[in-house]
Amino acid sequence: MTSMTFRDKRWLVAWLQAAVVIGLPFVRISGESAVRFDVPTLKLYFFGSVVWISEAYFFLLVFLLFAFGIMLFTVLYGRIWCGWACPQTVLSDFARLIERLTALLSGHRAVRALISHGLLLLFSSLVSATLIGYFVPPSALVRDVLARTLGPWTFGSWILFTSLAYLNLAFVRQRFCGSVCPYARFQSAFFDEKTLTIAFDSSRSEECLGCEACVRACPAGIDIRNGLQVECINCAECIDSCSRQRGRYGKDTLVGYTRGAQGQKRMRTRVAGLSAVIAVIAVMLAYQVHSRIPVGFWVVRDDRQPYHQVSVKGSMLNAYNLFIENRSLSPELYQLDVSGIRDAQLVLARNPVLLPPNSRVTLRVYVFAKRQNIIDRITRLTFTLVNPASREIKVSQEAPFMYPERSEKGVDI
Ligand code: SF4
Ligand code: SF4
Repeated sequence: MTSMTFRDKRWLVAWLQAAVVIGLPFVRISGESAVRFDVPTLKLYFFGSVVWISEAYFFLLVFLLFAFGIMLFTVLYGRIWCGWACPQTVLSDFARLIERLTALLSGHRAVRALISHGLLLLFSSLVSATLIGYFVPPSALVRDVLARTLGPWTFGSWILFTSLAYLNLAFVRQRFCGSVCPYARFQSAFFDEKTLTIAFDSSRSEECLGCEACVRACPAGIDIRNGLQVECINCAECIDSCSRQRGRYGKDTLVGYTRGAQGQKRMRTRVAGLSAVIAVIAVMLAYQVHSRIPVGFWVVRDDRQPYHQVSVKGSMLNAYNLFIENRSLSPELYQLDVSGIRDAQLVLARNPVLLPPNSRVTLRVYVFAKRQNIIDRITRLTFTLVNPASREIKVSQEAPFMYPERSEKGVDI
């Protein structure tokens, strides 16, 4: 039994990746996509949780974790990401597969080229639809496509992304990696003497057959025998080619994965440093996730009406706007309470308040207090929101309670 070539393994990874990327928006958890960013409401659906834009610190921590993670990964494994998982490489591989399959067709060369470009355009539109599925509910997208009722923004985005993907896959591909990709530019700064790279064994250069199979196979158009180059995406095509060529003579490949690029002598302490930074960010993120309460609660005193006097002598009201966000994917009941002034009463239409899943409500409420219980002109009130079903959800907010400036004779309220 022949062992799998690197190309076989990369195809396996590519198909798995395609299945995950295409499938994720279609997987439903608690009635929502497993992963999707809803643009109109600026909410991220993430495996059964909803992250609201008001929780942007989550995005910041995840971004930092991702950025430092890429740096550490690059120090350890070089450009493995480029060759095995980067969408640019994976999509380019699929584009080449389409070309290879159409080349098997009989007929005039121009007709085959036309079919190849037609299939590339179709493939690009599917890639674009997959991307849009991370922003628009996939079921709504499919329904609107079938009913031809796509909105102008969605349709425009689809056309734009399809055009860009087609131009990229038809004419750019790996040229992007060596000339435009910022990761290719900065990654060399993270290489050290133990970074995993693909290299030609120059100590055995006299064994080279000079067949140039490695050069012909290289999608980046470079000659790995000239050493490490910024255009190399670690796709391992040159390893497979050299293995094949030299394997005919019972000899092993001259190109392979290796730890150690010539001329790179940088301290390995960067691995320790980056690991420490990642650990700190990971702990912060874990704490935020652990302590996260799926509810948002704000209280704003209505400053347009500094105070209200009520007909009951010696009593008064202040008005407030309460903003409550149910950030869970299930309906929740919230009990509201107020403290800070003895016997102060919260006056609102209904209490507790039932909020549908993933929704926000603004409540107009009044606090009723007796004058005899008010000591200062401005008193800090504490509004408390409790979920009676799960006492774990308990949020407090403060807001001032005010009454008019008293004259020397006092205020008759
Ligand atoms: S040199 Fe080898 S690993 Fe690098 S891009 Fe070319 S074929 Fe891929
Ligand atoms: S495929 Fe191997 S033997 Fe052939 S030129 Fe490249 S390094 Fe030399």
